Amino acid sequence: MQPAKSLRAASCADDYDPNSLPVDKARQLIRQFLVPLTGTERVSLRAALGRVLSEDVISPLAVPAHDNSAMDGYALRHADLRPDGETVLRLVGSAFAGAPFRGAVGPGECVRIMTGAIIPSGADTVVMQEQVQSDEQTVRVGPGSYKAGQNVRRAGEDLEPGQVVLARGKQLRPAELGLLASLGIGEVPVFRRLRVAFFSTGDELVSIGAPLGEGQIYDSNRYTIYGMLVRLGCDVMDMGVVRDDPAALERAFQEAAAMADVVITSGGVSVGEADYTKDLLEKLGEVVFWKIAMKPGRPLAYGKIGAAHFFGLPGNPVSVMVTFYEFVRDALLVLMGRSDVTPLPTFQARCVTPLKKAPGRTEFQRGILFQEPSGEWAVRVTGEQGSGILRSMAEANCFIVLPHDQGPVPAGSLVEVQLMEGLV
Ligand code: AMP
Ligand code: MG
Repeated sequence: MQPAKSLRAASCADDYDPNSLPVDKARQLIRQFLVPLTGTERVSLRAALGRVLSEDVISPLAVPAHDNSAMDGYALRHADLRPDGETVLRLVGSAFAGAPFRGAVGPGECVRIMTGAIIPSGADTVVMQEQVQSDEQTVRVGPGSYKAGQNVRRAGEDLEPGQVVLARGKQLRPAELGLLASLGIGEVPVFRRLRVAFFSTGDELVSIGAPLGEGQIYDSNRYTIYGMLVRLGCDVMDMGVVRDDPAALERAFQEAAAMADVVITSGGVSVGEADYTKDLLEKLGEVVFWKIAMKPGRPLAYGKIGAAHFFGLPGNPVSVMVTFYEFVRDALLVLMGRSDVTPLPTFQARCVTPLKKAPGRTEFQRGILFQEPSGEWAVRVTGEQGSGILRSMAEANCFIVLPHDQGPVPAGSLVEVQLMEGLV
């Protein structure tokens, strides 16, 4: 990681226009200032879901602990099997998961064995029950090619004791909880939660519960931002609505920066008369950039106020979500200590609708990925793409990402798609 340099030094040294920054460049710039948090705590396994490991987890056990059967069948000695024709073996017992066969399997003998049961001493191979005929005393193994050691899971084949199971920086999903449980680990070291304070700005905003006056609208951004932050696993501080008043905004900025690792605002970053965010950021901290060559989301400010990172998101509800998923999400994951952060992956799908697009900016149109009768996955646009139309986000299950230099897209073209499903 590059050392965090002074914002002004970076702003001056790098050759870019902070008034219209390409999307990739903006991501790189933000990265330069991100230093993951260092505070840690120990939490119980269930509480660790979504948290990020602050230390490597070392396996205390071999997994599996014993050689065991991968199948329901018969454990036998491979050397007993006739290469041509049927083999007749004496059935001497059975082995269940949790109830092993205590004896040994001698020449000409076999043991009925269930999946997960320990391979009895003397046996080295398991033949599936479908390949034998048996009665109470005798097992007839049909002719066939049986490999020595087949259907046997070896002790330690998943993990040896002392091996790193999960590395520091791993965010724990259900698979990791299960893996840790399989090792008997009930508590894990994780980074503390990232503290994120957020507020909305705008004289027109009303919080739900109050009636709407003329020209007023309900504040929806605080709900989308809340939802996106909680799903990422952040500790959230909702500071409400702040009026377009420089003194009130200055107090809110300072209060937020003093208590949080990250401050997120929405609204007030364009150049309208009442847009104070950028000026205040310049006064109280440092601005890295405030406009990105993208749609929606062109006014997006990033900077710092003291030690806190600051994201000034646009006011339009769709722009808020797009800029969060494309910039803020990655940055928060890095700050949370995750070691494998990349932008959301993209893949190609055929777009069945024509798309309006002007070159000179990256566009994130809202799309619906669906399955054609042929089985092929295709995408269509949700309809009107205005950045105030939040319904387009609610209908969408993906972004259609149109690159900077792309012009209009005819129907039937392959486009890059980014799935929203499964976003943490
Ligand atoms: P602004 O960037 O403050 O000029 O806001 C751009 C547009 O987004 C305006 O139409 C605002 O009314 C709208 N807007 C700003 N903040 C919110 C919010 N918290 N919830 C819903 N709409 C908003
Ligand atoms: Mg505003």
